[in-house]
Order: sequence, then C-alpha cells, then structure tokens
Amino acid sequence: MTICVSCGSTNLEFAGKYLHYGEKFREFFPDLAILSCKQCSLLQVDHSSVDEQKLTDYYRHFYRKEIDFVTLSKSHHALWNERGRALARLAAQHIKPVKVSKIFEVGAGYGYNLMAFQKQFENAQLFTDELASNLPPQSVTQANLEDGPYDIIIMSHVLEHLMYPKEFVLRVARNLRQGGLLVIEVPNEGNGQFVYQEKNGIPFHTGHLTFFSEKVLRLFFHNNFKELCIKQFGTAGPTIATMAKVKMLKRISRRLLGIFPPLLRGAERLFESVIERKIVAALNFSNDTNTFNKIYLRIVLTREDES
Ligand SMILES: [Zn+2]
Repeated sequence: MTICVSCGSTNLEFAGKYLHYGEKFREFFPDLAILSCKQCSLLQVDHSSVDEQKLTDYYRHFYRKEIDFVTLSKSHHALWNERGRALARLAAQHIKPVKVSKIFEVGAGYGYNLMAFQKQFENAQLFTDELASNLPPQSVTQANLEDGPYDIIIMSHVLEHLMYPKEFVLRVARNLRQGGLLVIEVPNEGNGQFVYQEKNGIPFHTGHLTFFSEKVLRLFFHNNFKELCIKQFGTAGPTIATMAKVKMLKRISRRLLGIFPPLLRGAERLFESVIERKIVAALNFSNDTNTFNKIYLRIVLTREDES
C-alpha cells in the first residue's frame, strides 16, 4: 500500500500518468502513476512501484545524460551563480557569518551554490556528499551528513527527487547544530500544472517524485518537524505566466516547422536559440517575494533549541 510521503495518509487517488522523457528512466520505471493525497493535497509518484536501489543507480549513471536541457552554456553559468548568491544572501539574513564554520550541500552538482556561500561566509569550510564539478579539489571536502553537525545545510532542487523526503529531512535536522540553518529551493509546481512538464510537445517529468506547491510545502514542514522552525518562505525566478508564454512560443515554432519542414529545417536551430535567449532573459534567480507566482519555492528553517 502506498502512503503519502508527507502526512502518512493512505487516502490517495490516481491523478495522472508519470511521463518521464528520459528513455532510460522509462526503461527503469515503466508505468508509474502520479497520486494525489486526499488529506494534504500533495501530488506524488506512486512510490510503491519504485525500487530505491534502482533509483539510486539511475541517478548515479544516467540522470545527467538524460537531463540535457541543463546545459552549461555561459549564460547558464551566470544564472546558476546568481542562484547561489541569492540563496547565500537569504541565509545571511538568518545567521551571523562568524557563527558559520561548516556548510554542507546535499548533492552539490556543479558547485555553484557552495562557491557563492563561500564568498558570503568566508571562514566556513565546505562539504558535500556528491560533487560533479571541476572545482579545485581543496575547496570542497567529500563528507557525509553524519559527519556534522553543520551550521548550514543546503538542499537546492533535491527534496523533490527523494523517495522519502520526510525521513531525509529528519536526518538533515539531526545533523544541523542548534540554531543552524536549512536552506531549501524546490520547483513551484503551482496548482498541479507542472512547470517543467513539456519537451517537444510531449508532457514529461524530469525525475521529480514529489510536486510541491506553496500550500503543501508549508504543510510538509509545519506538520512533520517539531525541531525545525520556518524563518522565511517565498518564491523566486520567472513567473509561471512568463514560462507559459515561452512554452507557447515553442509550440508555435514547432507547428511552423511541421508545416514547412524543408524550408525551415535550416532555421530550426535559430528558432531554438531565440527561444533559449528568451528563457535566459526571463530567468532571474534573485527576485525573492512572497507572491508564490514564480517557478521556485525557497524556504529557510532553523533548528531550534530543544530546551
Ligand atoms: Zn498527504
């Protein structure tokens, strides 16, 4: 039986088919369903049909190859840096730099966030469990969560990929020092219209197993973690409406290409690059507000004294 990964309810109903655009993912996990929790409204993949070891293998060996839209062009480099700086600034509003000596990022990817945190918290040592970057090896140390406690733990686009997000956050909280900060960013899935749901006209998911909206993310943290206190909750990035416009533009260009393929084939690349530039222009990672109409959700929590 599948139970809700947030509230534990067994009252879940079918909400749609999970369409991952990665061939390898579909091969690993055919016929996954998305379920909606009748109690807390959280949309989630039916994890009773996901083997955790297989999922780990998929992430280790195939994920980066399949998620090909995360290119490391120069413009993306600037954007990821900007995201790192925005998250580091948010953190600095809630903890004094002199009190920060150890920062851990869960799955640091290309290391942009950690580098930005290093500038904000100059005396801190950096740690991660997984680094896929070309950073100078001496700047970040490979470690486990349990090697803490840490003063700051960063989870940027991690929570939505986990089989058991609640259990993982409990583990994170145990390895945060009293008064330490947990900084999280996840996609804002809005009202179930998944932000990243389309590629080449086909709905798709990119490995997200849990789909957070403002309401369900707030409930997730409010109801499940007595030791964590929400300090800040907001949204950032381009608005969902802007991204919908960009998607429409993509659809129109594909339709045109369908009608005049021989004439426009040469222009295909040009179209794509124009759209790509529009997306990059719309992406702003440092515009935190509490309007919740943007594509990222950011939440900062502290571990409270147990006394
Ligand atoms: Zn639930």
